[in-house]
Amino acid sequence: MPTTCDYDIAIVGAGPAGSACALALRQSGLRVALLDKARFPRDKVCGDAIPGQAFKALRQLDPAFVAQLGQLQPRDDVRDSRLVAPNGASLTLQWKLPSFNSPRETFDAALLELVRAHSNTEILESTGLKTLAIEPDYVRLTTTTAQEITARLVIGCDGANSVVGRRLLPEPRLARAHHCVGVRAYYENVAGASSGTTEFFLSSDYLAGYVWLFPVGGGRYNVGLGMLAEIVAAHKVDLKQILTRVLATHPELAGRFAQARPLGTIVGFGLPLGGGRVRPISGARFMLCGDAASLIDPLQGHGIDTAIQSGILAGAQAAACFERQNFSAGFMREYDAQVAHKIGRKLAKSYRLMRFLSNKAWLVNAAVRLARVPGLKPWVQRAIG
Ligand SMILES: Cc1cc2nc3c(=O)[nH]c(=O)nc-3n(C[C@H](O)[C@H](O)[C@H](O)COP(=O)(O)OP(=O)(O)OC[C@H]3O[C@@H](n4cnc5c(N)ncnc54)[C@H](O)[C@@H]3O)c2cc1C
Repeated sequence: MPTTCDYDIAIVGAGPAGSACALALRQSGLRVALLDKARFPRDKVCGDAIPGQAFKALRQLDPAFVAQLGQLQPRDDVRDSRLVAPNGASLTLQWKLPSFNSPRETFDAALLELVRAHSNTEILESTGLKTLAIEPDYVRLTTTTAQEITARLVIGCDGANSVVGRRLLPEPRLARAHHCVGVRAYYENVAGASSGTTEFFLSSDYLAGYVWLFPVGGGRYNVGLGMLAEIVAAHKVDLKQILTRVLATHPELAGRFAQARPLGTIVGFGLPLGGGRVRPISGARFMLCGDAASLIDPLQGHGIDTAIQSGILAGAQAAACFERQNFSAGFMREYDAQVAHKIGRKLAKSYRLMRFLSNKAWLVNAAVRLARVPGLKPWVQRAIG
């Protein structure tokens, strides 16, 4: 065992989960390294809708963080969502929490800047995790830059293809019923889109998924399609092809995209959904957060909020580990329990609702119709989450 480790904590991945975790540890006095294989600003395939709950969690750390993020450019402040049912009827729902859309290239870099400005975290960019070994008293990491790093604790915030998770948990078979596949493209010159409104288009062609159209500021729109991996695999669906077809043929979207200009190509990425069978997300000397812990909302596909929430919970648990000098798997399970209580229960409810609605276009049509009855809209809004 090395008598001194390079760091107390190594956080792998500087997305929302990793940056939030570093921010949560900013006053702990612990030596924290935050490493990422990318150099920021970097892109992340996403819808770029930062959920209100993400800001709520950051505000609890320090309201100034949210005030600073609120100045970001480009961004589009969001007030409501418009839901277009398979039969073309639509429903607009007002958001309770303030929120905005901003390209992840901008948002994640700004979050990392907060870490740089408000903590002593050592930020190691262009430094990918290669191998990882848990020794009895420390963790040994090797990186793509041929460095060896030792720490007392490692926190895996390295996203959907987490190396930390793959090394430290028994490899689960990809559970397609609990994974989504998503594709995204940027467009400009989209007709009829209004600032402040995110739009969701449901169709019986791609139920258990939806097409989104989100303004992200500067006249740009994030357009995408997400679908359950189970359906993608069973029907050999080509999401890029479907998205292109929908934008050309959907009764409403076709007209709105007639003069739209694509900015770049359609790109895709996986979404590990929460709300399934509970599996461990920690063990002796490690914890997983965000996508690495499969915490994406199965109904709506958002995971930036749960990444930030879990990063903050992991930061608190890490501080408790050092206080008690207890890094055992048993003590770490406190973190799993916190995540299950504060995040998991809601995700389980979302998962059940997503499965229930997935082959029932008629029910989505009926819910949109029902929400137009005075007094019933709040009930529908609560059911959707
Ligand atoms: C198509 C699509 C649309 C989505 N739309 C939305 C949306 O609109 N709103 C929303 O809230 N969520 C959305 N999500 C989900 C959201 O993107 C994720 O839940 C969120 O990014 C999770 O944050 P994270 O910090 O856990 O992981 P990430 O944001 O993926 O960050 C992980 C970081 O780890 C780094 N990394 C990876 N491997 C290594 C390694 N070996 N060594 C070092 N660093 C490493 C990566 O470079 C990255 O910076 C969407 C996802 C997809 C795929």
